[in-house]
Order: sequence, then C-alpha cells, then structure tokens
Amino acid sequence: MSELYLFDTYERQVRQFQPLEAGKVGLYCCGPTVYNYAHIGNLRTYIFEDLLYRALKMNGYEVNFVMNITDVGHLTSDADSGEDKMEVGSKRTGMTAWQMADFYTQAFQKDLKRLNINFPDTWCRATDHIKEQIEFIEDLEKKGFTYQTSDGIYFDSRKLSSYGQLARLDIEGLMAGARVDNERQHVTDFALWKFSPADEQRQMEWPSPWGTGFPGWHIECSAMSAKYLGDYFDIHCGGEDHIPIHHTNEIAQTEASRGTRLANFWMHGYFLQLDNAKMSKSAVFLTLDRLIEKGIDPGVYRYFCLTAHYRTQMSFTWSSLEANGVALKRLYQAAYDWGAPGTLLDEYMARFNACINDDLNLPRALAVTWDLIRSNEEPSAKKATILAFDQIFGLDIANYQPQVVEIPADIQKLAEARAVARKEKNWPLSDELRDTALAAGYIIEDTREGWQIKKQ
Ligand code: AMP
Ligand code: ZN
Repeated sequence: MSELYLFDTYERQVRQFQPLEAGKVGLYCCGPTVYNYAHIGNLRTYIFEDLLYRALKMNGYEVNFVMNITDVGHLTSDADSGEDKMEVGSKRTGMTAWQMADFYTQAFQKDLKRLNINFPDTWCRATDHIKEQIEFIEDLEKKGFTYQTSDGIYFDSRKLSSYGQLARLDIEGLMAGARVDNERQHVTDFALWKFSPADEQRQMEWPSPWGTGFPGWHIECSAMSAKYLGDYFDIHCGGEDHIPIHHTNEIAQTEASRGTRLANFWMHGYFLQLDNAKMSKSAVFLTLDRLIEKGIDPGVYRYFCLTAHYRTQMSFTWSSLEANGVALKRLYQAAYDWGAPGTLLDEYMARFNACINDDLNLPRALAVTWDLIRSNEEPSAKKATILAFDQIFGLDIANYQPQVVEIPADIQKLAEARAVARKEKNWPLSDELRDTALAAGYIIEDTREGWQIKKQ
C-alpha cells in the first residue's frame, strides 16, 4: 500500500503521515456548539473528518478518536465578545441551557448516524470538565501568561513569541489596526475564564479561584484533548474558520502550559457555501432534516460531499445535489446488478488507495470508481472491489435494494386497455391511454417482452 500523505495547515504543506507511537493515532475533532441544529455546512466538516478516520483505519492504524461537545462558553462573536450562545439559544427555544444542550447533542448524533459517520471513541462535554479547565488556567497563571480584568481572566498573547504561527497572523499589523476594548491589553488576547455578570443569574456558572463564572471557549479543547490524548498527539481537525482564532488559541494555551504545539498535524475542512455566502447557524441555514423533507436521502448528501476535495470550498445548489442523486442511484444499481462479490481487482485497489493516501483525494477516487463501473471486468470482481472502496465512501452499497414501485390498480388497467387498443391498431386510443397514465406520473413503455410501467 502507498504511504499516507496529509496536508498540515501548521506547516502549510502535504507531509507524509507518521504516527507518534507505532500503529496508533490520536485524533481530536472540534465538535458542535449545541445551541441549534447542525447545518449541512457543519456536516460537511464532519464527513471530511469521517473520511480521514476511515483512511487511517484503511492504513491499518488503531485510532483513538475524541470529539468534544461545546455546551458552554462559545460567545456570539468568536473574539470573546457578545453573549454566550447557549444562554441566547435558551431564550430562543424556551428550554433551559441544560435541556437544550441535551436536545441538540442528540439531534447532532442522529445526523451523524444518518450520514454513516463513525462516532468517536470518546465524547466529552465542556461542562463535564470544568475542574480540568480551571486547573489548566491555574497552570497558565502560575507560568505568567494571564492577567485579570473586571470581566475575566485573559491570556496574554504577547508573552508567547510563536503566537499566531498556525494562521500566519500578522501580529504587528493587527495591533496597529485594532481598537482594543475595555481592559483587554492586546487585540489577540482571549478569555480563559469569564465572570458571571453582576446583574444577571447565568444558568451555567461555577465557582473558581477567580470568582463565579464560566470557561472561555478555547480552553475546553486544550484541557480535554490533554486529558484523553496527552499533551502532544497526532491529528487535530476542525473547519477552516478555526484556523485564525480557535485553533490559534488552543495552540497558544498548550504551548504556554505544556510546551507542545498540541498536535503533529492540523487539518481543516473548507466551507460549504450557500448562494456564495458562508452558511452559518445564525443566518439562513439548511439542515439534514430539510433535505430529507425534500425527499433527498442522506446518502446523496454524503456522495455530494465526496465530489469535492475537502480543501476546496464547495457551493451548494439543489440542482447539483439532484444530479449527484442520479449518479449515486446509477452507482448503486450497477453494484446491485453485479450480484455476489468475488475476488478483489488489485489494480483498481492500488489506484483507489493511491487517491485516498494522496491527502484524501475523494474526487479522484470517485473517478476510479466510474472507470471500474464502465470496465469489462468480471461482475463479481467489480462487486468485491466496490465494496472495498465503500469502506471509505461509507455509502452502504452492500445494503442497497432497488425500490419496488407499487403500481396502482387504475394505472395497471390503463396499461392493459392500451395493450388491447394497440392490438386493434387503435392508435389514437392507445396514445390517449398512455397520456392519461403519464399525467398521473406513470410511464407505459413497450419492450420486447411486452409492456412495463415505470414511475416518472
Ligand atoms: P460549530 O457548531 O459552530 O462550533 O461548528 C461545528 C464545525 O463546523 C466546526 O468544525 C466549524 O469549523 C464547521 N463549520 C462551520 N460552518 C461551516 C460551513 N459553512 N461549512 C463547513 N464547515 C463549517
Ligand atoms: Zn476546539
């Protein structure tokens, strides 16, 4: 098998993947902020991470996969201003912040299941790890990286010379252009702990050495990844928006406290755009439920995501989704018609593995799949090979069953009457009966074996 190469945002290059410990991979993916349903843009990122997970397995690694649930501390602006998204969501939905966190966590997990996305080995909720986060902040304080303002404990980004390396931030330029609000000392400083407002009882708040409040958003990932994967692990993932703020700050905390850049590889999924604008939870967004309501199978959305490389932005349109639905149906039907699996086709397997190991090039892997479908290889060998490809695609090809369309009795009668009219060479009546069936959504076709009815 070819070697696995992955793009590392930190080094800004494709690098050969080598695990830190032989045969094992620690993988951490930033999970959802559970104040609303996941939109299909979010889900594109989780599909990318699932493809990575499957590729690591394909390469024989034992993967320890951790995902967090952000159920506190993510403010309406990523730059630590505004309200906590959970408190805002609670007002919107009428649920308590705690009920809402449970509700949207379950909705998120249901989406993952429907998209055939593997669950992590460990789910970790920010609110279950307040102690670990406080200890992390105490350590940063001891090492001199924090300062206190009237609204919280902040990380002093100027104390860390490597701050902003992941995003190649132009720190001097940012400093020059920025107006720093209240007591925050530098524009790139960020909250580690926020105090509860004096005039408001928050639903989610905890005592701490600095006062009652709640953790900042970034500290949860540094604290929980350290707990479950150690201070330096293999791969850390998220969406591209995490590069300049969230991941930059996670790295800063861990570098300051533990002296590591947290993960060996940093990987980012690029955005799904809707009408050329970023899809976000606070603006118009589409959910998986909405797609299903429109009669689109979740597998079609998964297939749609496979058609673009994870490091390119992708535009969502209903027409491209439909076209992908048609392609997927052809793929399913072809594989179904091949019958039982036989022996693998080595040449196709090698071509496929090379695409996957070339920084998860799924569009090229799909091209290999279509070559396989069009080829004159033995059907049973084609079947075995496409089922092996599906270990990565996750389209559940093995369980596809063609839909049996129930033909209503009156349409059946029309077809029978039309057959009689044709026998009697009554063409106008035959055409009229066919058109009546068509108006009801059924196509009557003539084949060598006689007539057949199809749903339009
Ligand atoms: P959130 O629930 O907002 O914390 O985001 C969950 C994940 O979705 C994060 O990894 C984000 O980077 C990612 N994300 C947010 N918006 C999009 C989008 N439009 N397309 C792809 N990924 C996104
Ligand atoms: Zn994170």
